[in-house]
Amino acid sequence: MHGLTLEQVTIRLGRRMLLAITADVAAGEVLTVMGPSGSGKSTLFNWIAGFLDPAFNATGTVRLDGEDIGAKPAHQRRIGLLFQDALLFPHMSVAGNLMFALPQSVRGRVERQARVEAALADAGLAGFGARDPDTLSGGQKARVALMRTLLAEPRALLLDEPFSKLDADLRAQMREVVFSTARRHALPVVLVTHDEADALAAGGPVIRLGGSEGSM
Ligand code: ADP
Ligand code: MG
Repeated sequence: MHGLTLEQVTIRLGRRMLLAITADVAAGEVLTVMGPSGSGKSTLFNWIAGFLDPAFNATGTVRLDGEDIGAKPAHQRRIGLLFQDALLFPHMSVAGNLMFALPQSVRGRVERQARVEAALADAGLAGFGARDPDTLSGGQKARVALMRTLLAEPRALLLDEPFSKLDADLRAQMREVVFSTARRHALPVVLVTHDEADALAAGGPVIRLGGSEGSM
């Protein structure tokens, strides 16, 4: 099976059952996860990516292309995360932020710079490499954050309300960039959103998590 598989995943916080989920996300497909604030969406992402806070208890299996990655450290899982806030490093240029994300396997300064420049061009930001991230608009920051995530050559994408701070035009544009990139690279994607229009545009299955009572 190509893609991301969650098998009987449960996450508890103390005695409270936060969530229970089983899902298959095929390569190139977008699974949308919706649910009220506090229902455990970000916690699920942390668990998949290997960053779960020890306050939580998780059971179940996460597979990437059939391989159980649950015992791997976060940096070996190659899960790309994208958040509502771009979280660019403020002390680095835009190009520096992108360069930082490139895997070690991309060798040589010339090749690394070429990758960064190509990513900036893909994002419609050619020539922005030397800029301080603080001088970018919200939409430009969002595009740099997306490119940074993709340059790390992830095997899956987890998007945690990535469009929620963007205005309608930019939101539509970013969706198109994210979803077409995922299809092109055959990446399984999980999208957390409160916006039904995001779910519709994603075009894949939708899972609705329970409320604070932790149903399911
Ligand atoms: P969502 O992303 O769906 O809004 P979260 O996954 O952020 O929800 O949080 C789920 C629940 O876990 C909330 O009740 C939140 O307060 C709690 N929580 C989040 N992070 C921690 C943590 N590090 N330690 C203890 N409780 C946490
Ligand atoms: Mg959250």
